[in-house]
Amino acid sequence: MSVTGLPPYDPQNIFARILRGEIPCKRVHEDAFALAFHDINPLTPTHVLVIPKGAHVSAADFHANASAEDIAGFWRAVAQVAKSLGLEASGYRLLTNMGLDAGQEVPHFHVHVFGGKRLGRMVSAG
Ligand code: AMP
Repeated sequence: MSVTGLPPYDPQNIFARILRGEIPCKRVHEDAFALAFHDINPLTPTHVLVIPKGAHVSAADFHANASAEDIAGFWRAVAQVAKSLGLEASGYRLLTNMGLDAGQEVPHFHVHVFGGKRLGRMVSAG
């Protein structure tokens, strides 16, 4: 286990394989810092994932260990993706699951961009 409670980075995780082009994705944006693609199981009318190019297990790992340039570039890409999806006027939600209690499934840091309808309450305790 790493200090974040997750195993060390696994280069065979599904998002690493998408980054290497080994598995297809419905890409919406790519730049030096990030790749964005539609979630395979969308929970809202627009549901896009944004992932950094670097090998980071989680939000904790990314923000502790990525360079300031990579962190800034990543978050700028997230905002650009939301804008390019036409979500700025109506609004959107950004979410990242970090570790066990949040139910993080894929061990490569990613941010969900949700939009396209009224999203309701922020957190379900159930
Ligand atoms: P999380 O629970 O935050 O780790 O979210 C992982 C997300 O990745 C889920 O919403 C899945 O639907 C999504 N996902 C898993 N595999 C793929 C894939 N091959 N392409 C696109 N999205 C995926």
